[in-house]
Amino acid sequence: MLKRNQTIGNAELLALFGAVDHRPSPLAELAYQSFVYSPAGMLLLNTELQILLSNESICRQLGLTADHLSGQSLPSLIHSGDLLLCMHQLSQFLAGQIEPYQAIIRLTHAAGHTVWTHITVSMLGSQTGNGRYILVQAMDMTEKKQAELALQESALKISSLLETIPDAFIMLNRQWQFTYLNKGAEQMIRRKREQLLGREIWDLFPEAVDTNLYSAYYQSMEEQEPRHLQNYYPPHERWYDISCYPSKHGLTVFFRDITTQKQQEQELLSTKLHLDSMIDNAADSIVILDDTLRIIRANQAFWDMYGYREEELAGNIPKTIPTELVDETEHLFRKVFSGEQIPPLETRRLRKDGTLIDVSLTLSPIINADRKVVSICIIGRDITMAKHLERKLRESQERYRLIAENTKDFVSLMDVRGKVLFASPSHRAIARNPSSGSDNAFELLKEPWKTKAVQWFQDIVQSREARQIELTLPSKEHESMVVESKGVPILGQDGQAEAVLIVSRDISERKKTEELLRHSEKLSIAGQLAAGIAHEIRNPLTALKGFIQFMQSDSVYREQYLQIMISELNRIEQIISELLMLAKPQTVHFQVKPLEPILTDVVSLLESHANISNVMLDWVPSGDMPPVRCEENQLKQVFINILKNAIEAMPLGGSIQIRAAASEREPGMLELTFRDEGIGIPQELLGRLGEPFYTTKEKGSGLGLMVSQKIINEHEGRMHFASRPSLGTTVTILLPAIPS
Ligand code: ADP
Ligand code: MG
Repeated sequence: MLKRNQTIGNAELLALFGAVDHRPSPLAELAYQSFVYSPAGMLLLNTELQILLSNESICRQLGLTADHLSGQSLPSLIHSGDLLLCMHQLSQFLAGQIEPYQAIIRLTHAAGHTVWTHITVSMLGSQTGNGRYILVQAMDMTEKKQAELALQESALKISSLLETIPDAFIMLNRQWQFTYLNKGAEQMIRRKREQLLGREIWDLFPEAVDTNLYSAYYQSMEEQEPRHLQNYYPPHERWYDISCYPSKHGLTVFFRDITTQKQQEQELLSTKLHLDSMIDNAADSIVILDDTLRIIRANQAFWDMYGYREEELAGNIPKTIPTELVDETEHLFRKVFSGEQIPPLETRRLRKDGTLIDVSLTLSPIINADRKVVSICIIGRDITMAKHLERKLRESQERYRLIAENTKDFVSLMDVRGKVLFASPSHRAIARNPSSGSDNAFELLKEPWKTKAVQWFQDIVQSREARQIELTLPSKEHESMVVESKGVPILGQDGQAEAVLIVSRDISERKKTEELLRHSEKLSIAGQLAAGIAHEIRNPLTALKGFIQFMQSDSVYREQYLQIMISELNRIEQIISELLMLAKPQTVHFQVKPLEPILTDVVSLLESHANISNVMLDWVPSGDMPPVRCEENQLKQVFINILKNAIEAMPLGGSIQIRAAASEREPGMLELTFRDEGIGIPQELLGRLGEPFYTTKEKGSGLGLMVSQKIINEHEGRMHFASRPSLGTTVTILLPAIPS
């Protein structure tokens, strides 16, 4: 049963296993069998370290047969790297200096590779002298060792990986102390590893206690479940995405800085909010339809425009297309779904209540990241009102055109250079009428009207204000025609005049009426003056008669009488001619003249009339009286009017102060004042002076001042009244002085 062994004789072997009388005892049998069949490798060595006996397991470990091993020395099997240490330990063991021991050594396999082995070395037999054997039990650890090495390597890899990743990674033990931090964590915490390792996290960061983070750590630990959270850490002003992985030993925590991502999210959110509020608050209706034309989204303006409530239509196909437009609209939708944008399109749509509205629609495709049209957006505006206004405007334009074309007034539109853009047909009445497009409408005027008209026109363009003028135009029917023209500037968007609308009216008739009034006023004055004049004439006539009778009775010719008689006759002639002046229409003829003689004439004409009323005319010419451009007879009429009014205002008599001099207040003007001591004019009536037929007198005409006003205006002068009731009235006339 015992196998023969080359190195150890059978007898020896048997003795070794306690055989008695060459027959192994059962105990010896057991020892042998456990040696041979042990799963551990077994070597029995003598004290020279020669292999006496080996089992199958060690043979397998080393790739050798038992025969091969038998007689070999143990050191020849040991890896050279471990040989020295092994021999040292074995010699100590043999010397009894150490007890049986265990070690991990490398053996060399027959194929040359290393076999990691866990050996247990013990002594068999007596402790000293002969009969000592060494038992080596060898457990193959190669796989385990390799796994360990691999583990070590991977741990190394992991830690270097952890060092390089930008995310922070920390490990805490159950006492919440830092056991590991990577570089990322150092950077995140902004402290050195040495300051952190071994310290308790809540000591270091008391501000984190009782925060979300704190409870997440605790819960994760307690429940032994991973936890994820996003946390804002105010001291760093940063957002972190945090994952906690618990284990028996503690907690591993990953931190990822997601601040940028959060910011982008926030931005996206606020953009979305803006967009939403833009859509919701847009005055235009906005609706988004999916590819089956169902409403995905619509704003309030849409519901309002079509008169639906949101819940009635949302998610459905809008019923806003009139039947007759369905085909056309479907065609449009197809275009949009092929990626086309439809520019504002005016069409009609149906409201819920069945009314049609005019709308302007813009259809645009909404394209996803794959450049596919996923939905369409329709922006609409109710233009019913605009359309209505447009129609109204057209109508009113037509109406105005009708008026312009049929009016007797001359309506024309000119650009700022005087080019005629439109001229009403009434212009036919004007000789050489300005047709549309004629280059300058003022060419057809005669001087001085041409210069005046051009000035007036430029004034309108520059001042951008309406201005009025009286012009004399050549007329077809008559010699000329007086028109009153009103020019209104038409301003462009820049506030500058773009064109001028001119409406002119033939006032020849009115002028004639005015002329008549003026004449009748003159006649009435003549009539009223007649009494005074008769008186004035009677005196010289009486004188003349006396002289003639005297000469007749005497039959004496007296030279000295003749002189007096001629002077009396001159006086009569003068008075008569003044009277005729008032009664006879005169042609208008402006001339530069000094005013003194004119005033003196008027004063002498009115002297007798004033005397009757016990009024004194106080006329003192000044040395400083520049001439004026005037129509003498017309000015005389004005002065007579004013003086007559003054006389009439003093029924109990008084004096009228008449002065004329270059104006001190208004250089370049001649100032005339007529100051009476009469009844005066109440303040509230001052404004009415000059109104035709405004009179407070029983036999008054109420035309005197109107006529005077007109005449002074024609002289480019001004007239105004100052009055204190019961103290008197002062009439001031300003006329442009001609520098002499
Ligand atoms: P008439 O003399 O025919 O009434 P006018 O046009 O000359 O017409 O004058 C209009 C009115 O103005 C007069 O009726 C009078 O009430 C007032 N008026 C004009 N001048 C004077 C004056 N110097 N003093 C007081 N009232 C005056
Ligand atoms: Mg009067």
